[in-house]
Amino acid sequence: MTKQNKQFAVIGLGRFGGSVCRELFTLGHEVLAIDIDMNRVENFIQYSTHAIQGNSTEETFLKSIGIRNFDHVIVAIGENIQDSVLTTLNLKELGINKVWVKAQNMYHQKVLEKIGADRVVHPELEMGIRIAQTMSSDRLLDYINLSEEYSVVELSATQRIHNQTLLDLDIRAKFGITILAIKRNDKINVSPLPTDMIYEGDILVAMGHNIDLKRFEEKAL
Ligand code: ADP
Repeated sequence: MTKQNKQFAVIGLGRFGGSVCRELFTLGHEVLAIDIDMNRVENFIQYSTHAIQGNSTEETFLKSIGIRNFDHVIVAIGENIQDSVLTTLNLKELGINKVWVKAQNMYHQKVLEKIGADRVVHPELEMGIRIAQTMSSDRLLDYINLSEEYSVVELSATQRIHNQTLLDLDIRAKFGITILAIKRNDKINVSPLPTDMIYEGDILVAMGHNIDLKRFEEKAL
């Protein structure tokens, strides 16, 4: 058991639920894997703490496996929207604190939000946007949206800023963004000093308004 000692349950062991389950387990958490399909359950015995076959739309089943003891449940039932909605409803009625649900489309999302899903995820949609964003720029490697307007991005340093310090570049004054870290090979320099040198190929972790980040990427890199 890890220091975090969190208990998770994953309902639906398709491609998405399956990868969530495996990753949580690899990270050292206690994970209960649930699917209606026995073959899927058997495939997850080695990637979970317990793997159980059952129908999550049945409240009695959920109660019988002690789902109330879980802090966090993810509903990863793909195609079957009705089962996904019913399962979510059951979980919220049973008082599960954090119920995250994979949505199939915007209508599905709306219903899930109305019945109290704590977070709705669209893996294909979100991943598609992410990939398009990084594909459209040679320098943007990854990003996290902090809000609609603010992000943290990873940008690769080009020849243009090779051998210059943050002070030389005057990034904060010129662009209004903050360099949180500089990654070089496997090392990471967190809260870099103004006098720290940047070399071509370094990865700059920058935080700021999206417009300012874009301006920095286009004008400075
Ligand atoms: P993905 O697109 O992530 O691969 P799938 O639709 O293939 O998603 O997977 C959904 C999983 O959810 C399947 O393994 C299916 O057996 C399971 N499932 C569907 N309905 C229920 C239910 N009522 N209770 C438990 N598991 C279910």
